[in-house]
Amino acid sequence: MPGMLYLVPTPIGNLGDISIRCRETLEKADFIAAEDTRVSLKLLNHLGIKKSLVSYYEHNKAQKGNVILERILAGETCALVSDAGSPAISDPGEELVKQCAEAGITVCAIPGPCAVITALSISGQATGRFCFEGFLSTAKKSRREHLESLVTEQRTMIFYEAPHKLMSTLEDMAAVFGPERPISLCRELTKLHEEVVRTTLGGAIELYTAQPPKGEFVLVLAGAQPPEKEEFTAQDAATRVAELIKTGMSRKDAIKQTAKELNMPKNAVYDAALQVE
Ligand code: SAM
Repeated sequence: MPGMLYLVPTPIGNLGDISIRCRETLEKADFIAAEDTRVSLKLLNHLGIKKSLVSYYEHNKAQKGNVILERILAGETCALVSDAGSPAISDPGEELVKQCAEAGITVCAIPGPCAVITALSISGQATGRFCFEGFLSTAKKSRREHLESLVTEQRTMIFYEAPHKLMSTLEDMAAVFGPERPISLCRELTKLHEEVVRTTLGGAIELYTAQPPKGEFVLVLAGAQPPEKEEFTAQDAATRVAELIKTGMSRKDAIKQTAKELNMPKNAVYDAALQVE
């Protein structure tokens, strides 16, 4: 019988956020795959858990993924943790989940701390529809291209960002989306100095020029406003009906066609056409 892979989220700042289920899973796992074994060791020591650790990070994941897979196929249970938050979300793990799924291994994701969701929920921006854009590239050209591909995006957009890149990202965002676009900058979430600045791109540039950014950030950017619908008047409707009738169309069809073209209710077009007859 193959074992299983558990994705175990860990606190993004406040150690109290580790859940009972996460703790139990870490205790029961045969081994823990960790992004940085030193970081995870601190957490395990805090929880009083002693367990064998295997490092699994961006630059060894191709080779270590196979080792982990073989151990799971041989019957062991692996708990995957990253430095903080939910594994596989802008963190190593995506590839391991894919490998396990392809090998028919059961993957169980335990819900828990995740910076993107914590930031969205506290942002004050629309939460009904959103898209997660992860980290922008450090290369200026591809960062601008990424942002430009989002210029008409109406959903709330969420980005991870490092403090030393924040200013250039805000400047690029202001150039693409305009300085008036609302943004919530969620900093040091769940930590002592947690702060949410709800402002505009221009306001954020002003703020962080005066006071250099520190700590970890999630940027929650408002989506574009939907394009304004053109409003047509009764006169417009009547004129269009008359034009269509002149082309030989029946009155009934002209009303139907006008209602469709001007996105107006058919009875409103009918009334409009009667009034100007
Ligand atoms: N997998 C993790 C998650 O989804 O929670 C994210 C890992 S990613 C490598 C790290 C980024 O998450 C940081 O650069 C920052 O943008 C964001 N982040 C993590 N912890 C945070 C916190 N406490 N406050 C604000 N942002 C945080």
